[in-house]
Amino acid sequence: MVSRSRPFLPANALPSAAGKDAPPKTARVGVLGLQGDFSEHLITLRGIGAEGVDVRKPEQLDDIDALIIPGGESTTIGKLAQHYGIISKLRERAQTGMPVWGTCAGAIFLAKDVPGHPHPLAELMDITVERNAFGRQIDSFEADLDVDGMPGGPFHAVFIRAPKITRAGSGVEVLARLHDGTVVAAREGQLLATSFHPELTHDERFHRLFLSLGKR
Ligand code: GLN
Repeated sequence: MVSRSRPFLPANALPSAAGKDAPPKTARVGVLGLQGDFSEHLITLRGIGAEGVDVRKPEQLDDIDALIIPGGESTTIGKLAQHYGIISKLRERAQTGMPVWGTCAGAIFLAKDVPGHPHPLAELMDITVERNAFGRQIDSFEADLDVDGMPGGPFHAVFIRAPKITRAGSGVEVLARLHDGTVVAAREGQLLATSFHPELTHDERFHRLFLSLGKR
């Protein structure tokens, strides 16, 4: 178990406290860089004053405050993560409270139940996720979401061959649904799953929400 001396949410991650003199402490937020759109997450993190770290080795998990699993191809991410010994180490870190967020394929990687998915996956979050659930005709679309507890109006969300969250366990809080009721964002303690890609838009509110999870 690793003790974290740094506060998870650095003062300079808050827009109101962006200091320009002394170099402030920053949260080190890992992005799993094995496959997928990890660089967009790194850019967004840097834009809000966090230190984004490209994580490819299990030992790097000891030196970060939180981890994002990007969108991409969940089967590839799962296979590579197991091959490099990341899954077991990630489970250890998540069980001792490290915030973890999965976007799209990353949400699949986090789910405890993914019917028909060739394993391995991290299986951390008590949700069932159905892959490629919107079908071929609308495999990519955008939607404005009302996100529970998120100020500033609807969040414009980009979905690309997205999964649906079809079951949320009793400890899971649903954060956003499509108009038809489909769950597309959920949180369980310090675990966050979104079916869509906040890293592909210029709206940083989900990244800020994720940074705040370590403080609750
Ligand atoms: N369809 C992909 C999968 O099942 C996820 C797509 C994405 O991350 N944009 O892994």
